[in-house]
Amino acid sequence: MPADYHSHTPLCRHAEGDAHAYVDAALAAGLSEFGVSDHAPLLPEPFDDWRMLERELPEYLGWIERARTHANGRLAIRAGLECDWLPGCEPWIEQLSGRHQWDYLIGSVHYLPDEVGIWDFDNPKWLARWAALDLERIWTHYWNSYADMASSGLFDILGHPDLVKKFGFVPAGDLDRYYEPVIDAVAASGCVIELNTAGWHKPCAQCYPDPRFLKLACSAGIPLVLSSDAHAPDQVGRDFPQAIAVARAAGYQETVLFDQRRRRPEKLP
Ligand code: ZN
Ligand code: FE
Ligand code: ZN
Ligand code: FE
Repeated sequence: MPADYHSHTPLCRHAEGDAHAYVDAALAAGLSEFGVSDHAPLLPEPFDDWRMLERELPEYLGWIERARTHANGRLAIRAGLECDWLPGCEPWIEQLSGRHQWDYLIGSVHYLPDEVGIWDFDNPKWLARWAALDLERIWTHYWNSYADMASSGLFDILGHPDLVKKFGFVPAGDLDRYYEPVIDAVAASGCVIELNTAGWHKPCAQCYPDPRFLKLACSAGIPLVLSSDAHAPDQVGRDFPQAIAVARAAGYQETVLFDQRRRRPEKLP
């Protein structure tokens, strides 16, 4: 099985399981590598209730070290972070990237600006709000942010490309009008995207990104990783056989491995 580089730890306050259990699950799934990428700190603190605090970074690195010790050479354990793309976040991301010899940084758009500030649109607490929204407007905002994130050059992997569909609120008509500009931006940036299997378990009941997006991405030469976004050990490598089939159908024949922010290809099984 390909590597799974998107996983969380209890430090983000909404994931469970200890380092040993995640490694055991990665070994049982037959993954080629396993990476930890918990929600990175954001200032000012507390920024929200779903991430580690800045002072917990050493504890986070300790968690990864415990995973490595438990793996004991049976499996490469990679160290990453899932960073939030927010207006003006660039200096903070640069600071975070210097805090450790990360193997990769994932960039994700979970927050969007609106009249009253920013809101974490994928948080279930906003479900009632979604029903009243102008979908064209929010989709436009989301994809503009995503393209800006790609162009920043701060990230190795771009997380769950169409997370904005999580609750099933999707504008009518052909979605290529959103996909095409962002795919141009991602291709120009050289970033890798992920096929994130968590979407299959959300109201949208579809992987991130949509297979159509994936097909356009493959044609544009954008590299791919598969990821589970595991928030519990039993989710590590979840749905990877199905993800491989989707990736292959989109035209992909390989994924990417990361080591200290350098990449090399790995053939899909
Ligand atoms: Zn999370
Ligand atoms: Fe995320
Ligand atoms: Zn994530
Ligand atoms: Fe995540």
